[in-house]
Amino acid sequence: QAKGAGRNTLRFFDPRTQANVTARTLLEAGLREGLRDGHFLLHYQAQINAHQGVVGAEALVRWQHPQRGLVSPAEFIPVAEASGLIVPLGTWILRTACQQLVAWGQDARTAHWTLAVNVSARQFRHSHFVDEVLGVLEETGANPHRLKLELTETLLLDDVEDTIGRMEQLRRHGVGFSLDDFGTGYSSLSYLKRLPLDQLKIDQGFVRDLLTDADDASIARTIVTLAHSMDLGVIAEGVETCEQRDMLIGLGCLTWQGYLFGRPGPAAELQAAAAAHAVVVP
Ligand code: C2E
Ligand code: MG
Ligand code: MG
Ligand code: MG
Repeated sequence: QAKGAGRNTLRFFDPRTQANVTARTLLEAGLREGLRDGHFLLHYQAQINAHQGVVGAEALVRWQHPQRGLVSPAEFIPVAEASGLIVPLGTWILRTACQQLVAWGQDARTAHWTLAVNVSARQFRHSHFVDEVLGVLEETGANPHRLKLELTETLLLDDVEDTIGRMEQLRRHGVGFSLDDFGTGYSSLSYLKRLPLDQLKIDQGFVRDLLTDADDASIARTIVTLAHSMDLGVIAEGVETCEQRDMLIGLGCLTWQGYLFGRPGPAAELQAAAAAHAVVVP
């Protein structure tokens, strides 16, 4: 087995990497326990449209570690991916997100909200992925038209035929797709055109220095133009200042998310923030 051979090789030749392998093995065991003991939770971040106010949210997974406190997904998602734990974890995330959608569906103030859920490569390529998503939708009674799956460029282009097949099956039921971190991967435009996407998501890396870096501004403008010409929606992530938001709106990107509205948090926090926002922006 390639993985086992790799480990042995590393053990002999690079003690520093061996330490990483050990740390990873520990993290893996921790993840397994966390999944068993219910230590994961979802935080939500609002997505705001300049005309409509809050139009939905993105679900972001958190690991409430008994000793370490909240662990960032940037740390544990790669390990969950490598170990295959992302498959059961991903199912838990989807189910929890869909339950939240159902809850929002029962409140007139939130019934129109969409919910974006991040999907990682190994989860997406799993042989049961499509059935899993459809199963969770049916079991929870969530409206598929309100569910948006966020995929990345590398994932999408890894096996384009397979990708399109899976996306089409889910789209037939109403599920939408957003291309996360757009601009950071290697999308060839000819492939992009073939993918049944609904939305491009401008990576926060282009938003950060939007006002001072002319290159970032022209990349953002190009993504907006591309989205419009391909009849796709566009959303910007990582918006932290009014100036960034206003510039994006000026570029034609009317929907955004970021700390400017609020940090990702429990659903109740987001609902409260949205209610307060609705008073200020009619
Ligand atoms: P992402 O999907 O691109 O999510 C955006 C990240 O930016 C989130 O980090 C979010 O908390 C952060 N963010 C939001 N607004 C701002 C802002 O205004 N400024 C800055 N500097 N950052 C902002 P987070 O929650 O740590 O997640 C990191 C990554 O982990 C995500 O990137 C996504 O790739 C992955 N991830 C998170 N939740 C899930 C999940 O449920 N499943 C999978 N497969 N991956 C997930
Ligand atoms: Mg995302
Ligand atoms: Mg992103
Ligand atoms: Mg990212």
